[in-house]
Amino acid sequence: MNLWIVLQVFVLILGLCLGSFLNVCIARMPDDRSVVSPPSHCPHCGSGIAWYDNIPILSWLLLRARCRSCGNGIAATYPLIEAATGLLVLLCWRQAIPGVEALDAAHIALFAYHATFVCMLVALTFIDLDHYIIPDEFSIYAVPVGVLGALGIGLLAPELAPSWKQALVGALVGGGFLLAVAGVYWLIRREEGIGLGDVKLLAMIGSFLGAFPALFLVMLLSSIIGSIVGIGHIVLRGRGLRTAIPFGPFLALGALVTLFFGDVLVRLLLLGLPGVMS
Ligand SMILES: [Zn+2]
Repeated sequence: MNLWIVLQVFVLILGLCLGSFLNVCIARMPDDRSVVSPPSHCPHCGSGIAWYDNIPILSWLLLRARCRSCGNGIAATYPLIEAATGLLVLLCWRQAIPGVEALDAAHIALFAYHATFVCMLVALTFIDLDHYIIPDEFSIYAVPVGVLGALGIGLLAPELAPSWKQALVGALVGGGFLLAVAGVYWLIRREEGIGLGDVKLLAMIGSFLGAFPALFLVMLLSSIIGSIVGIGHIVLRGRGLRTAIPFGPFLALGALVTLFFGDVLVRLLLLGLPGVMS
């Protein structure tokens, strides 16, 4: 086994553990409970979870999705969130660090920057799905993290990430654009079409990905995915029903696709554009 593979296995395990922590954030943050204390416990019987019953994915499988103390079911979303976070963090590593020769402070900082971004997107997606809220910790409070991260990476290797100025413009354009849409919607319909949570979230996404072309792609992708899911939701549930689907998860999904495939998509769009114009 060479060092490069060992490192990637280590990064995957790190991602699984981060996913396990995100499960705690998802369960506790909407109620403003601390994510550090008390330690993990069963939501049904309240008994503490020993370290050997708290190993990502593995414990859930070994316990056959049941609490050791009370036998109540443990939702499959726990291991799924761990697996998804593990794979996404590994993807961040592979994208930020193309090979062992690129293993320097700048590339590792870029990995940490993107992994932070991805973890927040995973957590807020599931919080928004369950509670229709996006915590400020993962949206507006994270904007300085996005801008300062871009500044730090820019000092180490300016070619790796959008500059801190682009990050700042991204936050302003992202937040400003959705705020304007929300304002127009309110003027026409006199009701809240886009929540302030989504406005703050797009500001955060802009601060990590920069304004152009990333924000354009995020909006395009999230609108397309959101429309497809929204139409499916109406068809399946019957018409006349007020469809309340949170928009945050679509913005998060659009941001993930843009982070990993943005360059390819922009190239495809630019290739397709002359054909559309003619
Ligand atoms: Zn229990």
